[in-house]
Amino acid sequence: MSANCIFCKIVKNEIPAFKLLETPKILAFLDIQPLSRGHALVIPKTHGAKLHDIPDDELSEMLPVAKKLATALGVTDYNILQNNGRIAHQFVDHVHVHMIPKPNETEGLGVKWPMQDTDMDKLKALHEELKSKIEN
Ligand code: AMP
Ligand code: ZN
Repeated sequence: MSANCIFCKIVKNEIPAFKLLETPKILAFLDIQPLSRGHALVIPKTHGAKLHDIPDDELSEMLPVAKKLATALGVTDYNILQNNGRIAHQFVDHVHVHMIPKPNETEGLGVKWPMQDTDMDKLKALHEELKSKIEN
């Protein structure tokens, strides 16, 4: 737990939230400034700023809960988003997965997708480098 963290305060019931689902490891609640109806957040109860700070057993519960929320809302189009770092649009430094319904063009998540040209040589070199570094 982190004393100044807004999401830790929600976990500890120190500030109110529209909680949707809780297990011993994770919590889901409505986003207070939604991009669309049903925009919700799923968080681990353990405090950690970024994805790599959270143990796998907590992370593995988060996507199934996002799926439950999407199912309960009956949405067919939605984005699952998880931001790490200020430049990557993270403003609350406690890991969270967004479940953001996309009901139409204007509501929900807008995505800028700055594609680079395909460079097979660069991809091949990166592929070799990463394969050797990834921990199984
Ligand atoms: P991010 O940009 O990924 O850090 O998103 C943080 C999200 O947390 C934003 O969508 C905020 O609207 C949401 N948020 C911030 N404070 C609260 C709160 N007290 N209760 C619910 N959602 C919140
Ligand atoms: Zn926290």
